[in-house]
Amino acid sequence: MKFAQRLAQLGTETAFAVSAEATAYAKEGHQVFPFHLGDINLKTPQNIIDAAFSAANKGKTGYCPNSGIPELRACLAEEIGLARGVNYDAENVVVQPGGKPSIGKFILSAINPGDEVLYPNPGYPIYESQIEFHGGKAVPYSYKEGPLNFELDLPAIEKSITSKTRAIVYNDLQNPTGAESTLEEMQRVADIAIKHDLIVLSDEAYFDIRYEGRSQSIASLPGMKQRTLILYTFSKKYAMTGWRLGASIGPKKLIDIIAKLNVNDESCSNHFIQFGAIEALTGCQSGPKEILTTLKTRRDKTIELLEHIPGVRCYRPNATFYLYPNVTKLMFEKGFTDYEDFRKTVLKNTGVAFCTRAHFGRQDSSEREYYIRLAYSGIDVNAIEQGMEKFKRWAE
Ligand code: PLP
Repeated sequence: MKFAQRLAQLGTETAFAVSAEATAYAKEGHQVFPFHLGDINLKTPQNIIDAAFSAANKGKTGYCPNSGIPELRACLAEEIGLARGVNYDAENVVVQPGGKPSIGKFILSAINPGDEVLYPNPGYPIYESQIEFHGGKAVPYSYKEGPLNFELDLPAIEKSITSKTRAIVYNDLQNPTGAESTLEEMQRVADIAIKHDLIVLSDEAYFDIRYEGRSQSIASLPGMKQRTLILYTFSKKYAMTGWRLGASIGPKKLIDIIAKLNVNDESCSNHFIQFGAIEALTGCQSGPKEILTTLKTRRDKTIELLEHIPGVRCYRPNATFYLYPNVTKLMFEKGFTDYEDFRKTVLKNTGVAFCTRAHFGRQDSSEREYYIRLAYSGIDVNAIEQGMEKFKRWAE
């Protein structure tokens, strides 16, 4: 059987391979410390589950409008607008089955074959995959270590813009680095977008996973609302990764196009779950608060213990549930130059499972520093303590 040539351009999340390996290793009877999972091992708040089941019991089990039920669209417009200081109406919102679908639908709507799209690398690997799958040229931009956290290499971004550059993917509160733009940095990204007439996909998956400070959206900066599509997801704040619900929020013309893609792709998002989402946005907020408190405790514990591991240094991100420690010295001292060798050796010797920089986009030959990503969303504090102790002993 022959398959389409375009499949050669389709990427994937190679991090899933780490999961498969960790599971196989656990099945052999070993203890695994799951720092590799971007999933959350906490239960969705009960009021959300109840609202969704109640809607199902009331018969909300048929098709619904392809843009989402009007009540949820209105709610999202209000809540997302309020949190970001931007005015949105229901017509600016199209409900999606998760956060991820906004990426491919944005690319499909924004670019023609041959157009160039700037995207963060290291970054969520689906950007690179979707840009190339739809015939675009994926042009990476990177981060460098700053005094408090990773910073964007803004001059390099400007330099890589050509007459074919059409869009930029911007993931403030970033996976995998935990990078967060200062207002000044965000303004400079906005200035670049305006100067070069770029459309922006603002991936705000971690907007609400914040422990200190306040999140801001590039859509709120002057001149940006009309050129920005926000990726919103219920997955993280409400521990709803498996429910598959999110939304695209942006200019009505783009939203109408994306709604048409919805019709072609999935007809509509799950009907009764959308009532759970309304409860999530408007009901009791103690559930998401507890989730955030638990995640903060895990972040603090992981950082505290990482600080005692020789050859490892790590920032303290205010947001996301990821740490991106620099392990160059440790790898060098242990004689590793290959990420996969290092990762597999640590797993086999300690049970600590993690992803590395290699899982987050194509590496550039000029990269000299080595990084791993530790996710603390799927691991309890006790296991964090045990895992970090084993990692420390191995490192020593
Ligand atoms: N964007 C980023 C940066 C992510 O890390 C993720 C998931 O991990 C997504 C989008 C996709 O979110 P969802 O699981 O809601 O599709």
